[in-house]
Amino acid sequence: MKHNFGAGPGILPHEVLKQAAAAVIDFNGTGLSLLEISHRSPEFEAVLDEAVKLVKELFNVPAGYSVLFLQGGASTQFALAPYNLLPEGGKAAYVETGVWANKALKEAKFFGEVDVIATSKESNFTYIPKDFQIPADAAYVHITSNNTIYGTQLHKFFKSPIPVVADMSSDIFSRKINVADFGLIYAGAQKNMGPAGVTLVIVKDDLLGKTGRKIPAMFNYQVQIEGGSMYNTPPCFAIYVSMLTLNWLKSKGGVEAIEKENDAKASVLYEEIDRNPLFKGVAAIEDRSHMNVCFVAENPEHEKPFLKLCDEKGIVGLKGHRSVGGFRASIYNALPITSVYVLIDAMREFAEKNK
Ligand SMILES: *Cc1c(COP(=O)(O)O)cnc(C)c1O
Repeated sequence: MKHNFGAGPGILPHEVLKQAAAAVIDFNGTGLSLLEISHRSPEFEAVLDEAVKLVKELFNVPAGYSVLFLQGGASTQFALAPYNLLPEGGKAAYVETGVWANKALKEAKFFGEVDVIATSKESNFTYIPKDFQIPADAAYVHITSNNTIYGTQLHKFFKSPIPVVADMSSDIFSRKINVADFGLIYAGAQKNMGPAGVTLVIVKDDLLGKTGRKIPAMFNYQVQIEGGSMYNTPPCFAIYVSMLTLNWLKSKGGVEAIEKENDAKASVLYEEIDRNPLFKGVAAIEDRSHMNVCFVAENPEHEKPFLKLCDEKGIVGLKGHRSVGGFRASIYNALPITSVYVLIDAMREFAEKNK
């Protein structure tokens, strides 16, 4: 078994993969593959219902919110959020904490005025800006809860006079949140809740229908809500595997329990980075991500040999994003702490060899 620290598509629980593999051949004893049954069949409708139910249960989603499973990835939501929430001639506020946030705000510019109220671009996004005013006259404020590439995470959500729109692609279901603090949450599934091909959207119903804009059906949250995420053929397999993963999470004690594990994984790994003279962390300490742990070698010449040692130990996916360099250990929900210990041992062994 490999130790998969890849940033995305990321690790999935082994038992989920086994169940998914079996369903590809024979789904729930129907004698048919999950890949060849109607999305309108009672069997698949039960899968979608269960997935929605699990999202609501795990996140304690209050009444007045809808849960959608859509296609097009988080990148499509960069456009759909302003398309559905930003009124003609209106303004939206964006906190720019990385490449994904930047892409999101660029898409919003197609729909109205964009006010970048804070950015950490000048430091290559090594921290989360905290001193900013949220303009009360903007339609919403957009944040990225976890910056996958830079290894920073918003640890405390702020109170806002206007709806908060959050891209939670890389830390969805990794920690407790209060859904009522948000107007819209979206997340591509492939980092922390399932396979690529499906995007979770949780939207506050009463924010919709206020833009004065005509929105094509597939891009219209209201239409997708009315169709129960089945306006057209949904990504059945990706929804199924997400449902299995959410079920796995529930069986582990839910978000609260996984948050404790994630904190423990992050804490032992950062401890080693800070202790080991050969490595150093990239992100500002108070903003360090509990999902994507970014670090570099003090001596750049150590980078390749360390990756080689990791490879020998079955550690994969550790190379940092090209814009940051170094290493990125993604320690998503499904990664066991035992894998983190294998990485820590490799770091110690490497330091011994390179004294
Ligand atoms: C990966 C990622 C995206 C892009 O997701 P796609 O589903 O590939 O469009 C957006 N935001 C964040 C925070 C990400 O980590």
